[in-house]
Amino acid sequence: DLVQVRRALLSVSDKTGLVDFARALAGAGVELVSTGGTAKAIADAGIAVRDVCELTGFPEIMDGRVKTLHPSVHGALLGVRDDPDHAAAMRTHRIEPIDLVVVNLYPFEEVRASGAAYAAVVENIDIGGPAMVRASAKNHAYVAIVTDPEDYSAVLNALEMNTGSLSLDFRKKLAAKAFARTAAYDAAISGWFADELAIEHPAWRAFGGKLENVMRYGENPHQSAGFYVTGEKRPGVATARQLQGKQLSYNNINDTDAAFELVGEFDAARIAAVAIIKHANPCGVAEGASLKDAYLKALACDPVSAFGGIVALNRKLDAAAAQEIVKTFTEVIIAPEADEAAVEIVAAKKNLRLLVTGGLPDPRAAATLVKSVAGGLLVQGRDNAAVDDLDLKVVTKRAPSEAEMADLKFAFRVAKHVKSNAIVYVKDGATVGIGAGQMSRVDSSRIAASKARDAAEAAGLPEPLTKGSVVASDAFFPFADGLMAAIEAGATAVIQPGGSMNDADVIAAADQHGIAMVFTGVRHFRH
Ligand code: 5GP
Repeated sequence: DLVQVRRALLSVSDKTGLVDFARALAGAGVELVSTGGTAKAIADAGIAVRDVCELTGFPEIMDGRVKTLHPSVHGALLGVRDDPDHAAAMRTHRIEPIDLVVVNLYPFEEVRASGAAYAAVVENIDIGGPAMVRASAKNHAYVAIVTDPEDYSAVLNALEMNTGSLSLDFRKKLAAKAFARTAAYDAAISGWFADELAIEHPAWRAFGGKLENVMRYGENPHQSAGFYVTGEKRPGVATARQLQGKQLSYNNINDTDAAFELVGEFDAARIAAVAIIKHANPCGVAEGASLKDAYLKALACDPVSAFGGIVALNRKLDAAAAQEIVKTFTEVIIAPEADEAAVEIVAAKKNLRLLVTGGLPDPRAAATLVKSVAGGLLVQGRDNAAVDDLDLKVVTKRAPSEAEMADLKFAFRVAKHVKSNAIVYVKDGATVGIGAGQMSRVDSSRIAASKARDAAEAAGLPEPLTKGSVVASDAFFPFADGLMAAIEAGATAVIQPGGSMNDADVIAAADQHGIAMVFTGVRHFRH
């Protein structure tokens, strides 16, 4: 699978390392063929080089728009050497095989970034270059394609090691890199067009996203925004059917996604569950005998925050639940299905969006999450850890009771969907206090407890709902203080990942107060 390199075609815009590379190739007995500017640079260094026009018998025309686009070049790149017909065609048309192609493209990205005029940007769309890159990469069985000056030394090393030949494995790797380059190049071009036309965002193009709709604005009115769908068949906000209501805003979509992903944690066959979301954090989550029951329990957690929230349900929306939900100003309802009576009740609220998804998201499913940072994209796998699958370890003298254990699991399931630092108090299958997004875990703990006090006061209850509750923390308690705040609030059992250097102190504090504590070994950061 070795290919002897006898002839190389060089055509590069970025001439970094070109002369040294050309000299080394020539020294290894490789014949050099090249295009205008590249040939000149090589010849100027005193290295023998043939102009590609000599090969084609055709001059470069149209300001270089057409220079290598010729059967003498592409036949030399694409010909299958072992195919008698191909070989005959090469002989008949005097096509001299080319074994090594060195091409980098017109600097479209740089020219675009420089803010150059429209015509200059268009002129920097390389046509012949990508054609050669793709042709040689396709024919990697016989041709090696080098698209990155960084690879010149590796090519020279490989040639030396194999006495002037390149291996199939090496050519394959070069081909893969070549196609990645032309793909990125075309993505940059289509991205530029998109920006020119103010339509789609280039980064999403790279992920195959399709523009679903352009929103009136983004997170804030001075930000533009669009919604792209990836075509994945996951039940959720992107694939849902909107039965009624205004167009979803950017924030609606973000919050609705958070709501539905959360409610998907609750097996609909086992129990009804409802999540109410504000600013991508839950302000109430509950299980219940019915959706109505679950909704009322979720609402009780933080009725003030629930105003203008998103409600997600894990079962078919029924009339009883709909009747309760429409009593509070709600932006979006999302459920797997909705029955006719429920749809009719929601219809009375013209702006309220009702989405049906046809199913629930699978919390264990793998998926890819993308987030942008300045100049890049962060990509990671979805957090698909489920508390029911974890090896839970009781670390305190007292083990949680059965009821506490059920609530602990519930709390950890919810904590997964709360922005860090997340502290979630739960009692009888309902959140009673949620502390989200604080920079300190103690603050999250305190906020959650104070919200529970507010809720108890509003409901005219004699004591805070955290009394006799359990608590979940998305990550370990680095010190005992966060745990103490939870104990003060009245929690009797704790679930947390564990793994802190101070675990022993935290466990001792729990034991001292008769608290039961469970370690999950898995954490749920969410930023
Ligand atoms: P040079 O500096 O050698 O004159 O041009 C090198 C550049 O021309 C390379 O970036 C290569 O991709 C590009 N190129 C080679 N052949 C063609 C062609 O036929 N048409 C166009 N538009 N560009 C080409």
